[in-house]
Amino acid sequence: MAEARKNSLSTWLQNIYRSHKMNPLLIAPCGMNCGICLAYLRDKNKCPGCRSKLNKLKSKSCARCVIARCPKLKKCGYKYCFSCGIMPCARLKHLDKRYRTNYGMSMLDNLAYIKRSGIKSFVKKEIKRWACKKCGGTVCVHRGYCFACGKRSKHYLLLKRLGGIIVS
Ligand code: SF4
Ligand code: SF4
Ligand SMILES: [Zn+2]
Repeated sequence: MAEARKNSLSTWLQNIYRSHKMNPLLIAPCGMNCGICLAYLRDKNKCPGCRSKLNKLKSKSCARCVIARCPKLKKCGYKYCFSCGIMPCARLKHLDKRYRTNYGMSMLDNLAYIKRSGIKSFVKKEIKRWACKKCGGTVCVHRGYCFACGKRSKHYLLLKRLGGIIVS
């Protein structure tokens, strides 16, 4: 009985996550778009995204993320790292370098765009950038293919060129 209740709760949560459209709440303070993250898109052990309060469901590294828990970020209301006045700090630079090198994506570029043009415009751009050409689903930044239909995108070729470094 308890097991059945647990399963139906997990299906319910999964349906909620699956129905999530890309939106401003999925954009983390560091500029990461959680909506294109493998941990958010996969069916099992889904991460609800950096800004979610469901900390127990987050991946270990993101639940302990030093950027998300940065006191300077707290002071400026957990908006975006550019509000702290010293961006980019060493931690953000390191994260940005890792993503540029391994996944062809930059948190610092994202933050610069948000600062310049606003979050609504950024989300619109991201929806277009990561949309699957075949079905309109979302292409994963870590895998380079669409999680709805499996079609590989141009990003897949980029990941291969970068060495195919893929998070598990
Ligand atoms: S694992 Fe990190 S980057 Fe991925 S969805 Fe969760 S909080 Fe966002
Ligand atoms: S850029 Fe600023 S707000 Fe972001 S983690 Fe660094 S010190 Fe904290
Ligand atoms: Zn697709």
